[in-house]
Amino acid sequence: MRLLFFILFVLLAYLFLRKLLKDYQSGRKIQETDTRHMVRCAYCGVFLPEGEALTEDSDNFCCREHRELAKRDKN
Ligand SMILES: [Zn+2]
Repeated sequence: MRLLFFILFVLLAYLFLRKLLKDYQSGRKIQETDTRHMVRCAYCGVFLPEGEALTEDSDNFCCREHRELAKRDKN
C-alpha cells in the first residue's frame, strides 16, 4: 500500500514539473515575440512591446500621458 502512494506521489510530481516547464517555455516564447516587435515612444523614446504601446497617427506611445503631451506639443 505504501508503494502505491509513493508511485502516485512521483506521478503527481512529474505532472507538476512538466506543467511548470511548459509554462516556462511558453512564457519565454511570448517574451521573444515581444522583443521582436519593440516600438519606441514618440515622446520620451522608451522602447516597449508593440502590444503595450498606444498608437495614434502611426506614432507609438508608452502611456496615455505621453500621447496627450505629444498631441499638445504638435498643436
Ligand atoms: Zn513615453
